[in-house]
Amino acid sequence: MSEYRSSNFIHDIIDEDNKTGKHGGQVVTRFPPEPNGYLHIGHAKSICLNFSTAEKYGGKCNLRYDDTNPEKEDMEFVNSIEDDVHWLGFEWDNKFWASDYFPKMYEAACELIKKGKAFVCELSPEEMRSYRGTLTEPGKNSPYRDRPIEENLKLFGEMKEGKYPEGSMVLRAKIDMASPNINMRDPIIYRIAHVSHHNTGDDWCIYPMYDFAHPIEDAIEGVTHSICTLEFEDHRPLYEWFLNELNWWNPQPQQIEFARLNITNTVMSKRLLKGLVDDGVVEGWDDPRMPTIAGLRRRGYTPSAIRDFCDRIGVAKSNSEVEMGLLEFCVREDLQAQVESRNVVENPVKVIITNYPEGKSEEFTIENNGKVPELGERTITFSREIWIDGEDFKEIPPKKYFRLFPGNEVRLKGAYFIKCTDVIKNEDGTIKEVHATYDPETRSGSGFTGRKVKGTIHFVDAASCVPIEVRNYGYLMVPDESGENQLNERSVETPVAYAEPSILDAKKGERFQFFRHGYYIADSELHEEGKDGRKVFNRIVDLKSSYRPK
Ligand code: ATP
Ligand code: MG
Repeated sequence: MSEYRSSNFIHDIIDEDNKTGKHGGQVVTRFPPEPNGYLHIGHAKSICLNFSTAEKYGGKCNLRYDDTNPEKEDMEFVNSIEDDVHWLGFEWDNKFWASDYFPKMYEAACELIKKGKAFVCELSPEEMRSYRGTLTEPGKNSPYRDRPIEENLKLFGEMKEGKYPEGSMVLRAKIDMASPNINMRDPIIYRIAHVSHHNTGDDWCIYPMYDFAHPIEDAIEGVTHSICTLEFEDHRPLYEWFLNELNWWNPQPQQIEFARLNITNTVMSKRLLKGLVDDGVVEGWDDPRMPTIAGLRRRGYTPSAIRDFCDRIGVAKSNSEVEMGLLEFCVREDLQAQVESRNVVENPVKVIITNYPEGKSEEFTIENNGKVPELGERTITFSREIWIDGEDFKEIPPKKYFRLFPGNEVRLKGAYFIKCTDVIKNEDGTIKEVHATYDPETRSGSGFTGRKVKGTIHFVDAASCVPIEVRNYGYLMVPDESGENQLNERSVETPVAYAEPSILDAKKGERFQFFRHGYYIADSELHEEGKDGRKVFNRIVDLKSSYRPK
């Protein structure tokens, strides 16, 4: 288990910096996505951390597109990123594009060449790999390492002019091929790519590598605390090397690493998520099963639940996996006091109240949310034929089953006690309908205290209910016998479902508790487009939780 700290160690660092005056008391952070996919819940962690840190210290947080890889980037992703950050409830101070700094980065690379700290290398990728050495063996110097400065400047200029094909040469930093840190073994800082860029068009055919570009981006923007994930810990000496060699900025930004968020039962990498979209395993980046922010939004998760989750997991210094149950817990916590309840039955069983007059119908008033009287009341109807949930009837009850079974009496929530008298079967042996009698004395609200029943179930009136399409989602990934995560073949189920008629008033994006079933949202895209015109509701989360936060 990782060391979750109740206090945020990044804030401890900032407190210390503020004491020593290292950054002049300033706090500037940034959220730096590469626009090559949709953001996921891991990014939400980074967003919350960067924006709330700036807010806590009265500083600034910028949105910066780390758009230095034109091959994979797209404006579709840019737009989705902005929607997602806003939806989470944050506003950036400035919006920056790393690609706007290409001229400055080029200048920085030339400066390194002039200082004898960078060289143009013509080793093939395979050769470069074999020269790099291993964790236990030092690397070997490239034969191009001692090119004269003038020649490096000329070649680098020609690379920029487009004289050379992709892969024919790169610009490398000249550091130390024997460094125990492989990142310091003359890393590549520029590569050739004859590709148009969404922002700079065809101005450039050389593009900077992440490790070179990132410290420069941070420094140009006056970032004080550059928060990134743990994989970059071993890159920090390189981050600092570039800034020190250039010595253009003072004070320099400081990189701080924290453990990336991993969650059970899902995947958390844009590359893998893109694979699911491209292979048609899910219906898109915003498929409600996806851990993308767009997917969670469509699933019905709330921004405040996600922020609460990011808060609760804290900031860790070693990698671990957080249970999906915690995220679900946060969603339930947020929704329970907000949403109205509706009666919906799944895999319904018809019940005929044989002693209730045909053609009669009664109205009952029930609370919209038993815990929040302010959410008001609504009217439901009751008549001779009703539907109850498939789970609420058993011909042969298991132990401790207190719902409806032959001979047993239960309370219909908001109506009467009913007692099962008969089970009528179809020819194939399946249940056609259940017969029951009601006791008029037990009318809800009448103050009846004559006897108690152990089970309370809900129902919908067969005369007025409407069929709806419920989409009950499971986890995207489930472990197999060996514990390896595999795609869940049954990640969505759509049982037959009937709802009380007021459900027809639901607006896209409106959330409800389907009594005893879970929290649901009217799908923001396809609400009107279910099978046979049924309204579509996504299950946000079920009601029961085995999860208890520590
Ligand atoms: P992925 O590996 O999913 O493609 P990435 O790190 O390549 O993600 P970026 O767009 O480069 O995606 O990330 C933007 C910011 O979000 C970075 O600062 C990165 O460290 C942070 N980030 C990405 N994934 C996580 C995560 N799982 N937990 C916390 N922060 C994350
Ligand atoms: Mg990345």
